[in-house]
Amino acid sequence: VELERSALTELCREFDALAVEVRHHSSERQELLAKILAEAAARRPVLDLLSQLLGTERATTARALSVGLPGTGPGHARAETFRCPDGACDRREMPSPAGAIPRCAVTGRLMERG
Ligand SMILES: [Zn+2]
Repeated sequence: VELERSALTELCREFDALAVEVRHHSSERQELLAKILAEAAARRPVLDLLSQLLGTERATTARALSVGLPGTGPGHARAETFRCPDGACDRREMPSPAGAIPRCAVTGRLMERG
């Protein structure tokens, strides 16, 4: 459950980068990513599918997601943090002051302040 949740958190955080990355890959992988998102939105397990997509073991999938793809690094100076709506995952974002409110890739909803 812990692995599943951290995989979901990284999926949410890295989804945009993942979507861009996967465009360079086969249609099978693109379909797999679409399926992963659908499963995540339905709150079904995605760890096995993610492992399949990334070619990683279950235990290293979340980590591979967080380091293997370009993403926003930490260190944005801002007091305001956003969290995933209804706690679907543990992602937290601090967007730049003029930046848009981040969206949860799992639920498709805007993230909430808090
Ligand atoms: Zn999320």
